[in-house]
Amino acid sequence: MRKIAIYNQKGGVGKTTTAVNLAAGLSRNNKRVLLIDLDPQGDISVCHNINSKYNLYHFLIEDADLQDCISKLGRNLDIIHCDHKMADAEHKISKENNSINFLDKKFSSKLEYDYIILDCPPSLRLLNKNALYYASEVIIPTSTDVLGYNSLEKTVKRIVEFNKINGRNILVSSVLPTMFDKRNKICSEILFKIRKEFTPSLVTEPIRTNSKLKEAPKSKMSIFSY
Ligand code: ADP
Ligand code: MG
Repeated sequence: MRKIAIYNQKGGVGKTTTAVNLAAGLSRNNKRVLLIDLDPQGDISVCHNINSKYNLYHFLIEDADLQDCISKLGRNLDIIHCDHKMADAEHKISKENNSINFLDKKFSSKLEYDYIILDCPPSLRLLNKNALYYASEVIIPTSTDVLGYNSLEKTVKRIVEFNKINGRNILVSSVLPTMFDKRNKICSEILFKIRKEFTPSLVTEPIRTNSKLKEAPKSKMSIFSY
């Protein structure tokens, strides 16, 4: 089972778009996928027709049955959504003794999937630390502009620090350049810089700026269906 955190400490770089469409793409390729939303903004439920009785908050904080918190959205795609109450969850988790591995303990050995995809909020607060503790790898979506590059550098540093402080070994498996517009000089410059400064094999082909990616959530569809 691959447990992948989609993480960047900056907002608006394409984390949710990556999480939603990566999960959809894998499930279309006959992989069993669970997509978990950790961002109190609750964008995953904007992108899908959620049909579960409860959400991640109820599972983590109120001990709801896991199956009641899962929305089944297809043969291979399950989702655990969340909403603004995750901010309260973060506060409650912080009072636990082992607050950093709270998520890990809650999910331990309960899940049978090929992929767990975690859509993380920006920043490196406790929810994200829990995600990094639980996951085995990180994909960092990064917008191909100056602020995006700056945040990529900071995000990688934070992950290295996280590993050191917590004795973990989470890997950055990909840097995913997003919102790439080849007509825009700065996009090409930043893409070149990302490829130069980071291990080239880690940097994927860029995702181009594409208005269909903005439109798809309106129809509650992945980019593939849309
Ligand atoms: P994050 O989760 O990092 O905050 P989102 O995935 O929500 O970022 O993306 C921010 C906004 O940019 C959304 O409106 C989304 O539809 C849009 N977006 C993301 N990727 C692309 C892209 N490749 N082309 C055009 N718009 C995009
Ligand atoms: Mg998001």
